Amino acid sequence: MAAPGKVAAFRLPPLPTVGDIIKLFRLKAQKQLSQNFLLDLRLTDKIVRQAGELKNAHVCEVGPGPGGITRSILSAGVEQLLLIEKDARFIPGLQMLSEAAPGKVRIVHGDILTYKMEKVFPKHLKKNWEDEPPNIHIIGNLPFSVSTPLIIKWLENVSKKDGPFIYGRTQMTLTFQKEVAERLTANPGGKQRSRLSIMSQHLCTVENCFVIPGQAFVPKPEVDVAVVHFTPLVQPKIQQPFELVEKVVKSVFQFRRKYCFRGIGTLFPERGRLKRTEELMKTANVDPTLRPFQLSMSQFRNLCDTYRKMCDEDPSLFMYNYREELKQKKMRPLLKSTSQLEQTI
Ligand code: SAM
Repeated sequence: MAAPGKVAAFRLPPLPTVGDIIKLFRLKAQKQLSQNFLLDLRLTDKIVRQAGELKNAHVCEVGPGPGGITRSILSAGVEQLLLIEKDARFIPGLQMLSEAAPGKVRIVHGDILTYKMEKVFPKHLKKNWEDEPPNIHIIGNLPFSVSTPLIIKWLENVSKKDGPFIYGRTQMTLTFQKEVAERLTANPGGKQRSRLSIMSQHLCTVENCFVIPGQAFVPKPEVDVAVVHFTPLVQPKIQQPFELVEKVVKSVFQFRRKYCFRGIGTLFPERGRLKRTEELMKTANVDPTLRPFQLSMSQFRNLCDTYRKMCDEDPSLFMYNYREELKQKKMRPLLKSTSQLEQTI
């Protein structure tokens, strides 16, 4: 768990309020971009405190918008703040903040989903993976449609130690729709246990910090929001390539309500499926009648390790795609009747 940081290590000069900035630059929230703003600086301070001590830290804020969280990050006494904002309308307001904290802020008008983070922080901040996390943080209140694909991309980066994790175990403090935050942190047996739980918890310590009620945002979203903090683990709980773990986990959860045997079977071609599924489950020591959400992390690890051995013995296995086989099976009668028709013509 990140030690709660102090905010107000740096005093910004008097500025128009975030609400005034919104009015001044006519920053009407765009519904299609799921823009919901936080205007209460006590709340933005609370979010920023979840990141831990930020004094002299290098921070990347994703989606600063009108700059509420940005002010709290600056007040925490950071050394450098990189802002990545997709919507050009926010840039002038952010420039005003940049002038209030000379030499500290860099503004990038760009898309975080494609932005390359490998070279943005100074080299001297790099830490060995086994060491304490570097003094680099990612903080953001993003639209839900961006935060979920983004965390999956960053989890892959954690697994490969690239992207923002080229600097070591960079910590992230991000907001998610409350239900997604519950999935990210769900324990075995929990109602929300899902693919996201395994993918995040096998690579990071994931902490569901607190819930922000929808009415704290302007305009109010349909759902509540939660702040989640991630610290990459020194040793992932499953020591297999990201793509392999993702494939096994996706298969297991394919049939959520059925015995896990059903989903795991989709890892194998129809011919020999039963025998190979039994072999996998027996070697991995997993009870086939457990439901996917009941499986523990060590059971997922055993499944991944055993599946890896089976793939090493049969290199074509990893390429097998259950959905593709189903599609071809459905097409076969159609192709047969077309060729019969061609023969009669
Ligand atoms: N951080 C501000 C706050 O808390 O009040 C704004 C939050 S609003 C939910 C999300 C912000 O992320 C918007 O400013 C939006 O323009 C920006 N955004 C959306 N998609 C983005 C992307 N792919 N890359 C960077 N910024 C993005």
